[in-house]
Amino acid sequence: MQHANSIDEVIFEEKDAQIFNIPDTKTKLSTLQNYFFPRLEILLRHTLDIVAQVYQVNPYERMTFVYCPSHREKAKENQDFGMVHIGVGAKRGKKPLKIIKENGQPFVLHPTYLTFKVLPSGTIHAELLPFRQGVDDAYIKNISAIIRKHGSMLLPLLSLAHISHRTYDRSHEFLPLYQAMLPEEIGSEGIRLVSPKYYFPVNSDRGFRELTVAFTLLYALAESFICIGEGQEPKLRTRLRQFRRWYVRIGNDEKNVEEKQESLEFLELSELNSYSFVRAGKWWAVLARDKWKCLSCGRSAREDGVSLEVDHIIPRSKGGSDEMINLQTLCKKCNIGKSNKDSTRL
Ligand SMILES: [Zn+2]
Repeated sequence: MQHANSIDEVIFEEKDAQIFNIPDTKTKLSTLQNYFFPRLEILLRHTLDIVAQVYQVNPYERMTFVYCPSHREKAKENQDFGMVHIGVGAKRGKKPLKIIKENGQPFVLHPTYLTFKVLPSGTIHAELLPFRQGVDDAYIKNISAIIRKHGSMLLPLLSLAHISHRTYDRSHEFLPLYQAMLPEEIGSEGIRLVSPKYYFPVNSDRGFRELTVAFTLLYALAESFICIGEGQEPKLRTRLRQFRRWYVRIGNDEKNVEEKQESLEFLELSELNSYSFVRAGKWWAVLARDKWKCLSCGRSAREDGVSLEVDHIIPRSKGGSDEMINLQTLCKKCNIGKSNKDSTRL
């Protein structure tokens, strides 16, 4: 069985945002998981390979994957956060964390999260949340101190990677990160470091490069914040230097590639297929019925990360209807292989 485990095969399409419109929460959450997790995982693993190269670390050693939404078949209620993310957070250690909650209780899970996040507007971005509400002032002070200490090196790199950093103070005034790093200045929104939001379609030609660059830089910060939380010495200075060296190198490589190309070809947008005519929201019902598997080759969104499409068995041009009985799930590859003349029911 062929797996779409190469980043070049992964694409987030405009239609993907429709999943957020599924009215039933359980169906919505499981469709979000089935549809986004495999592709986000491929993007994440691809990015962590870069992280490993740039920083000479094994990111899997100390970090673990985090997923949202979580969804349990048997749970009475599953919470809908209105977004999807996959990323890394610290592994649960044996020693208690140095970070405690304002009420004096230690955090069980490390509050630093670095993720790729998909929003219902049909965008994807990289985001670092150093901590969440309720961490003790000592932790915020330590994070503040390390950002101030390395600010002259860090802030220009954040700009290079198009990462904006913001926090709101308690009167909801918008403040740049380095100005609002005292605990009393951190409002309930906490701190966010975010890449630009890239609108779908996003793939290797468009968006992935910028997203992996942003994530790789944010990884350096996340690692340091996790070190602080665990009472270890952060290596931010070394990491920022490693990042800078790598960034300059890929910049040079790119110039060489561009010089070789005679003209930059226009981005090829996927053609409007029959799929676009299927009533908004109906296509996922077809996918659910077909268990998110291509009826031709059997690859699935969940296990193989393939992009699935809804095919009209009898084409609309031949009078085929938009009824469920005339619709079937095919992967992109199989759908391209099936011509309009072919009305095979699979
Ligand atoms: Zn297929």
